[in-house]
Amino acid sequence: MSSVQVAVVTGSNKGIGLAIVRALCQQFPGDVYLTSRDPGRGQAAVAQLQQEGLRPLFHQLDIDDLQSIRALRDFLKEKYGGLNVLVNNAGIAFKVHDTTPFAVQAEVTLKTNFFGTRNVCTELLPLMKPYGRVVNVSSMVSCSALGRCSQELQQKFRSDTITEDELVQLMNKFVEDTKKSVHEKEGWPNTAYGVSKIGVTVLSRIQARLLNEQRKGDHILLNACCPGWVRTDMAGPKATKSPEEGADTPVYLALLPSSADAPHGQFVSDKTVRAW
Ligand code: NAP
Repeated sequence: MSSVQVAVVTGSNKGIGLAIVRALCQQFPGDVYLTSRDPGRGQAAVAQLQQEGLRPLFHQLDIDDLQSIRALRDFLKEKYGGLNVLVNNAGIAFKVHDTTPFAVQAEVTLKTNFFGTRNVCTELLPLMKPYGRVVNVSSMVSCSALGRCSQELQQKFRSDTITEDELVQLMNKFVEDTKKSVHEKEGWPNTAYGVSKIGVTVLSRIQARLLNEQRKGDHILLNACCPGWVRTDMAGPKATKSPEEGADTPVYLALLPSSADAPHGQFVSDKTVRAW
C-alpha cells in the first residue's frame, strides 16, 4: 500500500474541476486524480495537462452510478489506504431557456447535484485520513434560493440539528412537489439548481457536525463553497471569472494547512466565510 498522499476531484475533465486538478498538480504534495464519467473525455483532459508538464492520474467516476463510486472507493482503499483530499465538484445545470418540463429538470438536477454528491460522501468520507480536507462545490445560488424559501423551510435548512435523513426527505419532497405542480405553494423557490445547491450546502453543514461528533481528534476540515461566476460550459462566456480564478477558493479549502482548525462546516466564497 502506498504511503503517498492522494487527492480526488469529481467531474474534472473540464471547467472548474479541470482547473482545480491543474492547481492541485502544482501545489498538492501527492497523487492527484482527475476523474470523469467518460474515460475518453477524462484521458483527453489528462493528456492536456501532461502537455503542460503536469502529472495527473485518472480514474473513472460517474457520481450518478453507485457501482462507479464504489469501484473508486475500493481502488483508493487498496492503493492508498484512504484519501487525503476530496473535492466534490461534479454538477449539472439546465440552461435557462431549456424547455424540459420543470419536474424533469428537478428530478435530474437533484439526482446528480444532491443525491450523487451525497453518495460520493457516503462512500468516501469514511476513507478520509486525519487532517483530510473535503470541499463540496455548491453555489451562491444556494443562498439566494434559501432566501426565497418559505420561513418554515428556511428555518429547517438553517437548523443546527437537521439530520441527513431529514434533508434527504426534504429534497425528495421538492421533486415530488414539482411533479404535482405544488412546489411554490409548498414554499419552494422556482429553481431546481438552487434547491439542489441548498442541499449541498446543508449536507456540508451536517457532515461537518458529524465529523465534530465522531472524529474530532482527526482534524478533518469540510466546507461548502462557491467558485464565483465562472466561464465554463455551464455558465457561458459572459461570466466574470476564468476557470483558474474559479478554482481559487476550492483549492484554498483543499489545501488548508494541518495547523488550521477553521473554516469547518462553513459556506465560503472568495476565501471568505459567508453567513448561511
Ligand atoms: P461544467 O463546465 O459543465 O463541468 C461540470 C463537470 O461535472 C464536467 O466535468 C461534467 O462531466 C461533470 N459531471 C456532470 N455530471 C456528472 C456525473 N454524473 N458524474 C461525474 N461527473 C459529472 O461546469 P462548471 O462550471 O465547471 O461547474 C463545476 C461546479 O461548479 C458545479 O458543481 C457547478 O454547479 C459549480 N458552480 C459553477 C459556477 C459557474 O459559474 N460556472 C458557479 C457556481 C457553482 P461531463 O463533461 O461528462 O458532462
